[in-house]
Amino acid sequence: MQYQINGIALPNEDGFFGAYGGQFISPELKQAMDEINIAYEEIRHTEAFQNELKDLFAHYVGRPSPLFYAKRLSNQLGGAQIYLKREDLNHTGAHKINHCLGEALLAKYMGKTKVIAETGAGQHGVALATACALVGIPCEIHMGQVDIEKEHPNVVKMKILGAKLIAVTRGTATLKDAVDSAFEEYLKDPKNYIYAIGSVVGPHPFPKMVRDFQAIIGDEIKLQSQDRFGVNPDYVVACVGGGSNAVGSFTAFLNDPEVKLVGVEPAGHGLDTDMHSATLTLGKPSQLHGMACYVLEDEQGEPLPVHSIASGLDYPGVGPQHSLLKDLGRVEYTSATDQECLDAFMTLSRVEGIVPALESAHAVAWAMREAPQLSQDIKIVVTVSGRGDKDSDYVAAKLGL
Ligand SMILES: *Cc1c(COP(=O)(O)O)cnc(C)c1O
Repeated sequence: MQYQINGIALPNEDGFFGAYGGQFISPELKQAMDEINIAYEEIRHTEAFQNELKDLFAHYVGRPSPLFYAKRLSNQLGGAQIYLKREDLNHTGAHKINHCLGEALLAKYMGKTKVIAETGAGQHGVALATACALVGIPCEIHMGQVDIEKEHPNVVKMKILGAKLIAVTRGTATLKDAVDSAFEEYLKDPKNYIYAIGSVVGPHPFPKMVRDFQAIIGDEIKLQSQDRFGVNPDYVVACVGGGSNAVGSFTAFLNDPEVKLVGVEPAGHGLDTDMHSATLTLGKPSQLHGMACYVLEDEQGEPLPVHSIASGLDYPGVGPQHSLLKDLGRVEYTSATDQECLDAFMTLSRVEGIVPALESAHAVAWAMREAPQLSQDIKIVVTVSGRGDKDSDYVAAKLGL
């Protein structure tokens, strides 16, 4: 499928989504990325690859994920109908397994001997370690020492799944240093290794590839809505960190102008503080991690430290497809604060018996804010990108439960 909007390719042959994306990297890394792109374009059109991915989505991940009518929540708010796209019910509990399976399968078809990635809070690491165990490829995850100490359950899970964990102690020993360390390892042998990025970010072809693997979310929402309502939903809403679950939810609807698309960024302690991570809302076009995109940066062009209660959302850049969709006005990018997110986390848990990830709770918070203003025949689909087990101890401590 070649996606486009207003005649603009998503992306063009050089990996540009309008002015965003591309490959702002060393010639050495560019060559490695170009090889991945060529192989991907070849392999993804083969029946063998598509059938294997489809089979795993159905029988391993458990797709299609349900579209659940949150009736009690909708009634309580007294406005629009809220439906939940249940990516939290996927195997491993989030949407990340969709692209990790795609990346691991691609590695297998390319004959790679090792999959390398970085992880921050460990969510990408666990999903990738899972996919690599299934496909039967060695997996090496680079993680900052500071994060290793904070994220014990995910660290243990990666080890159980057979991943080799590299503790990164340089610099601030967090995500950025883990990225550098992982790229260095990858460049030692790009012929035999493959780097697996965890969102729709980084140099071409990753924003395209990860988008393609996540587009199943929106494709299913569309079919399920047609089945259920006979028409598209009025709104599709998702949280935006790097932007993979949101791009996955939106892509099927880009050329259906009656469907309003809403991306919710973390406003942290508030947009008027320096404790947020609302890249599209307050950032500006620049470059980060090999791509052109909106970035939160200081006057010297250095990425700013960012904050969100949801560790999966605190990234100072954002995917190039989102950057273009913002400029075109096709998606409305807005935000929810840490406090709104906590309220949504508790409300969804107590009213529907669904404990969402703190990331996903940002999208739920938007629906809770807006639904009361909308009439009862309006249908809002909220993507619940993951489940909140990983966040439960933190929330319980925070609220004194
Ligand atoms: C990683 C993660 C996110 C943020 O990533 P995107 O690429 O913006 O989707 C959101 N929700 C969950 C549950 C995650 O694990």
